[in-house]
Parts: sequence; structure tokens; C-alpha cells
Amino acid sequence: MKIIIIGAGEGGLTAAYELAKNNHDVTIYEKAPRENLGYDWNDTISLSTFGDLGIPQPDLKYCVPKRDWVLIAPDSDAEVRIPQNPAIPDFRVQRRHLKDLLIGRAEEVGVKFLFRHTVDRLIFDGLSVKGAIVGSLPIFADLVIDASGVFSPFRASLPRNAGFTAMPSTKEVFYSYRAICGVNEGEKLPEYFHCYVKCIGKIAIGWYIYDEMTGLSDVMFCMSERLSESEAQEAFAFIRKKNPILADNVVVNGKIIPIPVRYPASKFVLDGYALVGDSAFMTMPLMGSGIGPSMRAGKMLADTVNEKNSVTTESLWDYQVKFFTEIGSKHVQIDIFKRWLLSVKEKDLKFLMESGIITEKDINAAAEAGAAPKISFYDILQKIGIASRNIVLFSKLGKMLLIGKTAMDHAAAIPTKYNPKTAAAWSKKLDDFMI
Ligand SMILES: Cc1cc2nc3c(=O)[nH]c(=O)nc-3n(C[C@H](O)[C@H](O)[C@H](O)COP(=O)(O)OP(=O)(O)OC[C@H]3O[C@@H](n4cnc5c(N)ncnc54)[C@H](O)[C@@H]3O)c2cc1C
Repeated sequence: MKIIIIGAGEGGLTAAYELAKNNHDVTIYEKAPRENLGYDWNDTISLSTFGDLGIPQPDLKYCVPKRDWVLIAPDSDAEVRIPQNPAIPDFRVQRRHLKDLLIGRAEEVGVKFLFRHTVDRLIFDGLSVKGAIVGSLPIFADLVIDASGVFSPFRASLPRNAGFTAMPSTKEVFYSYRAICGVNEGEKLPEYFHCYVKCIGKIAIGWYIYDEMTGLSDVMFCMSERLSESEAQEAFAFIRKKNPILADNVVVNGKIIPIPVRYPASKFVLDGYALVGDSAFMTMPLMGSGIGPSMRAGKMLADTVNEKNSVTTESLWDYQVKFFTEIGSKHVQIDIFKRWLLSVKEKDLKFLMESGIITEKDINAAAEAGAAPKISFYDILQKIGIASRNIVLFSKLGKMLLIGKTAMDHAAAIPTKYNPKTAAAWSKKLDDFMI
């Protein structure tokens, strides 16, 4: 089959390798130049992802073990530590090295790369995708894999009756501003990664990481609204106050980059078309970790195409079923938890963290970048004694947990065979949980 992939993200690259290895004719169109791919920083991924997908591990000189996160409540010293899972430790991997590894491997099995090639739009025949227009040239293909990121214009261009979510809502995206800065000599090295919840009073998180690989400071501020330069500066000043080690000099000045922080798209396949990675909102909704889920999804998609040798909605639906059963349903529950957490008042959040109602056990799985999380929110229900100090808040928490569990069960009960009516009813019910 002839397969076009839009975007050289981790999801598209993983799918490309598996498809080309199975003798499909695969071309990746990437608008950026080769040398600009990847980021100039290190990001977290569980190394088990590589073993599970049969991908050689990144060179260990580009990896450093992740430290434990500490979540810090607003205007408080209350902290919740999130220890690493010793069985599947996370590592911080240099993003450029990761991209090189995935591109090199794809090239070895014959994937063709066209860098500096922007895909303009899709070619349709009714509800089927037949290819794409690249620089005014029609390129026909059996399958178009859309790995173009969270604001995919292709997903938004699909006919309305195809049942796709055109764009995420503002609250479903974190706008992240990240910078790599120097360190002030003589200051104490932090033992943990620091994450400030509701940073500068916004629906936002800020973090400070001392990066052992580079000996530099890694600072990020993510807000669920478009953030301005002055808000980013205010957050940086706050983080600097809390972390005197953070120096003023900026080594890599990040731009503002969107990260989806929501449950996966309730539909991501159509005749001749499939979404993978951020374009299908596959990141873990609490922290926005999407490398592992995207790579796993890329493999699931390729396995489905290889097994079925067909790209109809009915065949590709198996890919959506696999993703929701193994990863997506858990993300649904985490999204409900995250929406609730970000909506509670600052004083209630402080109470939850100070009183020990929310502990590392509740969030640890969510901090695992990429591995399918194991949820332990039900443990919270055992803390009824503490909760009696704030019964109204606790009953809201209990209600949210029940909705989360029901939504997760619904997502996991995705119809195994595609039927337009039952699939649409399942998608609608899933979307309704988030209203
Ligand atoms: C600041 C930041 C920190 C992060 N930290 C982590 C972390 O620690 N751990 C983690 O697991 N995840 C993290 N993520 C998320 C992670 O980067 C993504 O989830 C992951 O890269 C999956 O992305 P993707 O495969 O969907 O492709 P993307 O990375 O979204 O790439 C899409 C590609 O498509 C190309 N493209 C777009 N439009 C077109 C077009 N019209 N024609 C051709 N090409 C096009 C783009 O140039 C781009 O290369 C972070 C993200 C950000 C922004």
C-alpha cells in the first residue's frame, strides 16, 4: 500500500518503521528542515517503552534517570512527593537524540523523508480520504496518517458528519513556555523536580528541574489559556524566588508550544485516514506526556494495517479499540481527575495536599510518562476520616471519582466491531462525560 505520513513526530515515525518493514511504500512529509527536528532539551520517557516496542534503547550517554517529582500547593509549603516506580523507572532523554534514533531506524527499512515539505490539505472522495495536496501537487495514497500535532488543520477539515472533534477547547490545551537557563554557583542542588500547582494563581503549573546531564536549569510554565510574555516572566520570577539556583542567563529560549491535556479523540479513524499522537490528543492529560503513548499508538496502528491489509474505517477501528483498551480509557479517568483538580479553589487544593487526601499514590501513575498508568484514586476513599474535616469538598471528590470510574469503564467498553451507529453513540457518550 502507498502510505503518506504528515509530520515526523514520534508517533508517525514509529508507525512508519513498522509499515515500511512490512513492505508498504511509506513517505513522511515534514514541514520543518531535518536539522530543526526535536527540541534542545531532555524529556521524560519510560525506557520500558523501547523494550515493549522492540526499539533499541537510546544511547545511555543521552539519558539520565529522572528524579522524583514534588508537587507544591499554592501559597504553601505543602508537598506531595511522587516517587519513581522502581520497576519501570523513567529517564530523561535528549529529544534530538530520540528523533535521530527513530529517523535513522525508519530510513534503514526504506521510509522516504521529504523535509521542508508542507502538506496543504487532504483529498476527499465523500467520506474517504484519498491523499493529500503538497505544494499544489496531488499525492494519492491508500492511507494518510495524520501526525501533524494538536491543532491539525486536516482533522479540522474533515466533513462534519465524519464525527471527529475539529479542535480541542482552550481548557484542553496547555500553552507551555520553556527555557533552559544557567545555575547560580554555590546554591544547593535540589533533590527533586519541583512542580508548582496553580502557579501564580492561574490554571497552570510551573516547574524547576536541575538537569544533571547538562548542569543547567530547566524551567517551564504551562497555562490552560494562551499565555502572554508578561505572564511567563511573572511565573519565571516566582520559580526563581523558590529556587535560588536558577540563574538569569537563558541558554535555550523556548517558544510557546501547545500540548494537549485531554482525553483521546473519541474518533480517530476514517476510510484511508488515521490520527496518531498529539493530533489524536494521546498525551497523558495531567502532565502532557505524549512520547510513550504516541510511540505505542504508532505501533498499534501499523500492526492493525499490517494484519488487516485494509484501511477501511471498519479495519482501522481495531487500532482505536486497542488504544482505548490499553491506554485511552485510563487517560479518560485522569482527565476527569485533572479537570476537577484544576477547578477546585486554591484553599481547597491546599487542604487536599496538606491533609494527605491527595498523595503520591494517587498521582504516581499519572507521572509515569508513556507507560499505561495504573490508577489508585480509589485509595482516596479510604481516607474518609481526614475528609470529615471538609465534608462538602470530600463529597465532590467522591462524586468526581465515581464519574471518572464510570467514564473509564465506558471508554474501555468501546464496541469491538465498527458499526457507524454504535460507534457514534459510544463517542457521544464519551464526549458527554467531559461537558
Ligand atoms: C515543552 C514540552 C515538553 C514536553 N515534555 C514531555 C515529556 O517530558 N514527556 C513526554 O512524554 N512528552 C512530552 N511532551 C509531549 C511530546 O512532545 C508529544 O506528545 C510527542 O512529541 C508526540 O508528538 P507527535 O508525534 O504527535 O508529533 P509532534 O511533536 O506534534 O510533531 C508534529 C510534526 O508535524 C509537523 N507538521 C505539522 N503540520 C505539518 C504540515 N502541514 N505538513 C508537514 N508537516 C507538518 C511538525 O513540523 C512536527 O514536526 C512535551 C511537549 C512539549 C511541547
